Amino acid sequence: MGKVERRPNFLVIVADDLGFSDISPYGSEIETPTLAKLAKEGIRMTNFHTASACSPTRSMLFSGTDNHIAGLGQMAEFMRNFGDYFKNKPGYEGYLNWRVAALSEILQDSGYHTIMSGKWHLGMTKEIAPCSRGFDKNFSLLPGASNHYNYEPQLDDGEFQAPCINTTGFWMEGEKILDRTADLPKHFYSTRTFTDKMIGFLENRTEEESQKPFFAYLPYTAPHWPLQAPRKIIEKYAGKYDDGPDDLTQKRLQRLKELGLVDEAVEHASPVGKLGKDWNEMSPEEKNISARKMEVFAAMVDQLDANVGRVIEHLESTGELDNTFVLFMSDNGAEGAALEALPLMGGKKTMGDIISKYYNNALENIGEPDSFVWYGARWACAATAPSRGFKGWVTEGGIRCPCVIRYPPFHAKPEAITDAFTTVMDILPTILDLAGVAHPGPQFRGREVVLPRGQSWVSHLASSDYKSTSVHKGDVHIHGWELFGMRAIREGKWKAVWIAQPRGKDEWELFNVETDPAEIHDLAQSQPGVLARLVQHWEQYYAETGMVQTPVVDRKIAIELNSQGIRYGVEVTDTKEDGDRVILATRDTNGSGICRFEARYVIGADGGRGLTDELGIKWEGERDIIDMVSAHFKAPLGARHPDPRNFITWFIDPLKGGSIRTGYLYHLGPYPVTTETEEWLFACAVNPENVQDFKTEDMIERIHDTLQVPNLDTNLISLSHWRVNSIVAEKYRSENGRIFLVGDAAHRIPPWGALGLNTGIQDAHNLVWKLGLAIRSNKLGRYNALLDTYETERRPIGLRVSQTSLHNLLSHALVMDRALGISTQNNTESNVKAMEEYFIPHSTEGKSRRQAVRNAQNILDTEFHALGAEIGWFYPNIDPETPITSSNHGGQLLPNGPYAEATYDGVTRVERIRDSGWRDADGMWANFKGHLAGILELNFTSVFGVLAAIYSAFSADIGLK
Ligand SMILES: Cc1cc2nc3c(=O)[nH]c(=O)nc-3n(C[C@H](O)[C@H](O)[C@H](O)COP(=O)(O)OP(=O)(O)OC[C@H]3O[C@@H](n4cnc5c(N)ncnc54)[C@H](O)[C@@H]3O)c2cc1C
Repeated sequence: MGKVERRPNFLVIVADDLGFSDISPYGSEIETPTLAKLAKEGIRMTNFHTASACSPTRSMLFSGTDNHIAGLGQMAEFMRNFGDYFKNKPGYEGYLNWRVAALSEILQDSGYHTIMSGKWHLGMTKEIAPCSRGFDKNFSLLPGASNHYNYEPQLDDGEFQAPCINTTGFWMEGEKILDRTADLPKHFYSTRTFTDKMIGFLENRTEEESQKPFFAYLPYTAPHWPLQAPRKIIEKYAGKYDDGPDDLTQKRLQRLKELGLVDEAVEHASPVGKLGKDWNEMSPEEKNISARKMEVFAAMVDQLDANVGRVIEHLESTGELDNTFVLFMSDNGAEGAALEALPLMGGKKTMGDIISKYYNNALENIGEPDSFVWYGARWACAATAPSRGFKGWVTEGGIRCPCVIRYPPFHAKPEAITDAFTTVMDILPTILDLAGVAHPGPQFRGREVVLPRGQSWVSHLASSDYKSTSVHKGDVHIHGWELFGMRAIREGKWKAVWIAQPRGKDEWELFNVETDPAEIHDLAQSQPGVLARLVQHWEQYYAETGMVQTPVVDRKIAIELNSQGIRYGVEVTDTKEDGDRVILATRDTNGSGICRFEARYVIGADGGRGLTDELGIKWEGERDIIDMVSAHFKAPLGARHPDPRNFITWFIDPLKGGSIRTGYLYHLGPYPVTTETEEWLFACAVNPENVQDFKTEDMIERIHDTLQVPNLDTNLISLSHWRVNSIVAEKYRSENGRIFLVGDAAHRIPPWGALGLNTGIQDAHNLVWKLGLAIRSNKLGRYNALLDTYETERRPIGLRVSQTSLHNLLSHALVMDRALGISTQNNTESNVKAMEEYFIPHSTEGKSRRQAVRNAQNILDTEFHALGAEIGWFYPNIDPETPITSSNHGGQLLPNGPYAEATYDGVTRVERIRDSGWRDADGMWANFKGHLAGILELNFTSVFGVLAAIYSAFSADIGLK
């Protein structure tokens, strides 16, 4: 590297949602002469990786470490959809946390003048805004997006208030919160205004500031939605996209290959996401609208380039450019999501609601301040080709981004290209390396901070041959990604990807991304050894980053599947039957947004919280049988477990008075198990003589005490108190017949046999096809009798399962504890003595205790082997095999009718299914199989939709109309 007289300046420019081929040095037709010049004089990276979404990438840029460590383990906007799930989890603060030293802080302390103009998205309040994280001067948009012309009427409209965003304002300058309507420039356009401010900061440096080198951070909001640009720039691109996204894909790919950025032999992935119509199926008007969106997108990128050009020209004019390390990057892949159902402002109001009230998306208005459009999956996939996916995906389409560097001391050959694997975490170590500053960790500004995981690029970029040097140890570098439940792990050319259905396979796929960057050819079957190694890497990555498993059935998918039918964060406050309607009152869980809904039918699935009582339906059975406490925790227990294959392990401590009092343990995953990642559940009864309100510390002590491992490294994830009930609602259908109870709203089952949820799901299966028929017919009378069969069929099953589970529960004390000679009625000494007898070899007492335990084990088999028990369930009221026949369902029914709790007949008989049908008034045959498809067609796009709707059925109307 050439000799540098003065410490270098840094200019880091971030584009928002810019795809891999959206700028001309990466094959785009969009006019980007500034970036083309920077690339010509500098270096392009073909293998630069970010996180799959915006704020996680920014946290990695500023910390040099993984987003799960730096505070953006998930996007804050995503986490608030999951209630307390991520609460108090280190790495999931939702802002750049204090465990990291921010690049701007380190440089500020090292004599740099630090300035920023643009989008922050790493903290919404002043204490965590740029002014508090190392910037001497800043002009900042705090959240992740805004209207590019500052036209935001919804922000001043109570109907769309965003109570879940904890902020005092969206804009800041220095330490001042700006008033969006009064303080922003009159002729605001995001890209131009951010540039004006940045040039202003550079121009107006004081004498003292000018003596310092600078760190300038310029994160634009373009070309993030809403797509908006000056009209005359949009006109430049008129007609350029009339052949549609597939044509653009081909042209871009051709150009990428000509430029040497993609190998000739590479195949490209098919588009993914919510694709809508194929270009050839669109009407001329639909094509015009779609092409216009892309024209506006192009104009935004065009303007972004022009404004980068203004900053570069300024630096050239002051003679500072050649001593400035200029880096231009995108923060993730192009944005291909469908956004109409996105709850932009929190609560239940969606972007679609806002648009219909305030925006005009007519063709001639698209791109104007009062239009609000995005361009969708097909155009995004054209921009990420040849890769698969787009923003939000951990496939290359979401994480491989353009990165251009210009820094003359590297003496790169003109138009240099490096294919070395790099990540956004490397930028901090690279900048510190160039600035001659050591990372300050582990102590910084009075707090403990982590060290970077990224590596400096300096020796690689300063080398004369980019083919023979690398950044991340050649073939063996290991990097992971995880967001929104998608996982990926990479080791050199190998990449394993796990994506939940319906987007992925619900299992690990394996790709050679060097030859197959499109991730098309799954090698999981042919390379099992490689896959196993990568999965081990994943487990290590999971452990090292302190990751929390993201619920994979995420809100985004649910909304994609049933955008109108599913509403989150809504609480039903009142339910009334009124003639042929049910009237529901709801409010947002934060107390606002009170609404009233009318539904023809309601499926009440509130877990027995209140609806059953509200309907005046009584519960039958035993309540509050035991007071329990359970803990979900992480601990390296597998290696100490005598048989880790056990699903549930019971402990019986004579000092605690029996099995349920002592507790049980079961393994929760994640699989495969490693000592660093194991998660467990421990539960025990609260001692009624010494009722204890277990807090975290008490529970950890209790776990250690039961397991007899006093120094176990235990990380308690959650703690809950619950009561065991064995109760069944007297009726499953309301008085007027319009409300149905399912799941725990109909039966609360002791979890001894693990059939509570199974029973609930089967309730739902039984009900939905019947409701589907009733709704289609529009005449309650005609299908009333069919709807009645829901209760007559399912209630006996609810009763049966609750009785069997209660039987199982009681058997622990009655059978197993008794076999051991332990009882809560005995004193401690006699319990201890009985337990000791069990272990005395060759003694009569020992032998008989051991035999008694073996017998008890057989009896408890109904619980321990309950899995699959429901295969033998049958509906007695429609059962051809009456109790008087000889088999009595393999002995499941006693001769006089009731169930034999400890017996089941694990056989599914044809006649049981055959007769589970119904003939309507016209003699039409109807059954579950024939009509589930109909329901799906009517209301949902997948079985997930049915379940989600059922479980959120309390959110009114559920779309079944
Ligand atoms: C320790 C334990 C272990 C278990 N293990 C198993 C097992 O291994 N296998 C098994 O099959 N079952 C098991 N169960 C039982 C199972 O968890 C329940 O049967 C099941 O969760 C019930 O599902 P549900 O949808 O009916 O109710 P819930 O899961 O309770 O869901 C009801 C939902 O409705 C919401 N809600 C309530 N009131 C309102 C309102 N007014 N407005 C809007 N929303 C509302 C709630 O917030 C909740 O999200 C276990 C239970 C326990 C306690």
